[in-house]
Amino acid sequence: MTNGLVTKVGNASANAFPLLLLAGSSETHLVTKGAFQELDAISLLAPHCKLVVRPSSIEAIAPAMRSVYRHSFYGRPGTTFIDLPADIIQGTAKLPEEVPDTNMLPHPPKTGADENKILEIARLLKAAKAPLIVIGKGAAYAQAESSIRGLIDRTSIPFLPSPMGKGVVADSHATNTASARSTALRHVDVVLMLGARLNWIFHFGEPPKWNPKARFIQVDICAEEVGSNGGDAELGIVGDVNIVVPQLIDCLSGWRYDLSTSEFGRELSKAKAKNEAKASAAASRATLPLSYSHAFAVIKSVLHSFSPPDAGGIVYVSEGANTMDISRSAFPVEHPRLRLDAGTYATMGVGLGYAIAAHEAYNGHAAEASSGPARRKKVVALEGDSAFGFSAMEVETMARYKMDILIFVMNNSGVYHGDAESEEEWLRRQAKSLGDGAGEKSLRSTSLGWQTGYEKIAEACGGRGFLVRTADELEKATREGFKSRVPVVVNVIIESGAGAKLVS
Ligand code: ADP
Repeated sequence: MTNGLVTKVGNASANAFPLLLLAGSSETHLVTKGAFQELDAISLLAPHCKLVVRPSSIEAIAPAMRSVYRHSFYGRPGTTFIDLPADIIQGTAKLPEEVPDTNMLPHPPKTGADENKILEIARLLKAAKAPLIVIGKGAAYAQAESSIRGLIDRTSIPFLPSPMGKGVVADSHATNTASARSTALRHVDVVLMLGARLNWIFHFGEPPKWNPKARFIQVDICAEEVGSNGGDAELGIVGDVNIVVPQLIDCLSGWRYDLSTSEFGRELSKAKAKNEAKASAAASRATLPLSYSHAFAVIKSVLHSFSPPDAGGIVYVSEGANTMDISRSAFPVEHPRLRLDAGTYATMGVGLGYAIAAHEAYNGHAAEASSGPARRKKVVALEGDSAFGFSAMEVETMARYKMDILIFVMNNSGVYHGDAESEEEWLRRQAKSLGDGAGEKSLRSTSLGWQTGYEKIAEACGGRGFLVRTADELEKATREGFKSRVPVVVNVIIESGAGAKLVS
């Protein structure tokens, strides 16, 4: 028996999430004849997957499924794909003689670090003047929160979470440096990376954002990751964060970094105080139209009145440029795996799919059967208007499956920002675009319609929609939306930011 067409691609994986994709394709005997929806999906998806397989027969499906399933979460997790031609989907076989049984897959084997390596790393951390621990989504996926919290509590080393590493250690923890990020990167001399990559999210581990003298110790399950960009291959540890961190705790036992009296500690506290005061002033500044910061402050205060951060009852999904960036620090997360954002490839359009997946993972039948309704979480999606547009019709899926997801669309009538402060001005620019074409006073190609009525999509699909312009309206809509048992879209009109510099 053969498995059919198999392509092994390696470690290509955007978010390093374990994901198994199943799809149908045209009948095997019609390939190259121009069959209905004929597509070489294997070639199309191979560059993005760890393994792609097309089984050659019904009997080959079970072993092929086992392979793609195992590859999706063994080693560095990632995407695998199984292509099922129509003749195989519609074929018949006798059970159980012709279709082999598959056994339950055990958890992947885990490895730790060599003892000498751990000693060397411990020595380096103890000698550091400005150490930092970076926590990535690999640590969140590994469920390493208890060991990493132990390491940070015992050593007082400051830490910085990645966007989806948030909550592995509570955002409220005293040594969280997220609000002093630039200062931390500029001064740090030894960095311990726990399940995080040195890609654009961490400025490649290179100057000018990082201290040029910083040394990076990467702890990663994937050997190829070690030594990437600014990483130091000689210091790297290929191992499971959940095994390596307890090894380090043992080796560092009794030692504590003196955060309060060190120069680094003082710089961090100064920067934290300054940046937090600035953020809090922006959050309390009531403007009309609303600003991102003030709108998020209003939403946050209502959400926290229903479910304080410590309860871990809310899952945040966010995508968009400013929406994602500003909301990341505006909404604290105290527990792991409660924030999803665009992630490694910064792909827009993933937000509503993420929200549906999070709803299913926390509130679906399987989740409720295993841990009961007490674990139910509210899924809140904070969407930029442009990002929402990529997959807005998923609201229909939510309504059909009765998913009570609360969606905020931050509507500034454009990608990054809008073009006009008033409808009249927008219409003038539109007329100019339709007349003489592009020019200074026309709409940019990244403009969106003037205050598009996104809330109506929810109403059309069986959900609820709110259009809000003021803090009071936003507060009321958030309150109603949180209690609602159907998907809700709150269309939040915010300042257009016309004329603002593009930032990302
Ligand atoms: P972030 O965007 O949060 O920095 P990345 O997706 O870039 O996260 O990196 C996550 C890293 O974590 C990947 O390089 C992956 O190989 C690694 N990883 C995944 N699971 C584990 C684990 N159990 N132990 C150590 N590293 C892990």
